[in-house]
Amino acid sequence: MVQLYRYLNEKETLSFFIINSKELVEDMRQVHETSTTATAALGRLSTMASLMGSEIKNEKERIILKIQGDGPAGLLVSEINYKGDIRSYIQNPKIDIPSVEGKPKLDVGGFVGHNGNLVVTRDLGFGQPYNGYTELVNGEIAEDFAKYFYSSYQMPTVVSLGVLVDVDYSVKSAGGLFIQALPNYDDEDLDMLESALKDFPAISSLFVEEENPQAVIEKYFKEFNPKLVGVDERRYKCSCNREKIEKLIISLGDEEVKEILEEEGKVEIKCSYCNKMYEFSEDEVKEIYDNVK
Ligand SMILES: [Zn+2]
Repeated sequence: MVQLYRYLNEKETLSFFIINSKELVEDMRQVHETSTTATAALGRLSTMASLMGSEIKNEKERIILKIQGDGPAGLLVSEINYKGDIRSYIQNPKIDIPSVEGKPKLDVGGFVGHNGNLVVTRDLGFGQPYNGYTELVNGEIAEDFAKYFYSSYQMPTVVSLGVLVDVDYSVKSAGGLFIQALPNYDDEDLDMLESALKDFPAISSLFVEEENPQAVIEKYFKEFNPKLVGVDERRYKCSCNREKIEKLIISLGDEEVKEILEEEGKVEIKCSYCNKMYEFSEDEVKEIYDNVK
């Protein structure tokens, strides 16, 4: 479990969300055995999901973030539910690309692709889910989300996401900061924010030195007199179970399932978020279909 901290400035015109997501991103990496750049890319998206989950109000609700760029990463997905559980998927976890020339920085933008789409889906658990779209700015993920929030809500937003990967491929540090102006904000708030962010280092390097997000807020945003308004739990955990996979088998349709059974003698389905394998014998598949009728 990691903690997401929520703050408001004294005037209650700015909302701050901050998380040290190292443990969560490391769990994600171990599930998908991601390459260095894939760890950074999917780690940033998973951190963004963790920052956005606090607005989920009902048990069946989920927020799903999807990025489809024209880079070698392919599709990236991160999802958060009511409990604060995050699960993520990347189409090409093993592919890697060289770092940005002359810099030790991982080329997340090149890996994701500079062109493509970002989709935010709010699934309330009933009715049609709501989708919001934006075109990617550069595939670096933080800038892409800042644009998404600005174009969707016309409110100034700061998004900082970072993942550092160690020489042994484990996650050295990871974190995110998300600041949203509330409808009653004024120009003074934005000026203060601009000057505070001038000295704000890359969040991943910051969490190498200082692991506690509260200390980071107190140090860099002191002049806002921030007050803590909530702490939410976050972890990397898949919500799949046999029952959900049974529904998936039904959705395949009996023609296709019959074909699989003829070829394989059983149905095997791997969850793409956690790689867990579910196996159904011919008898079990029959029972699933009998129960639907
Ligand atoms: Zn799963």
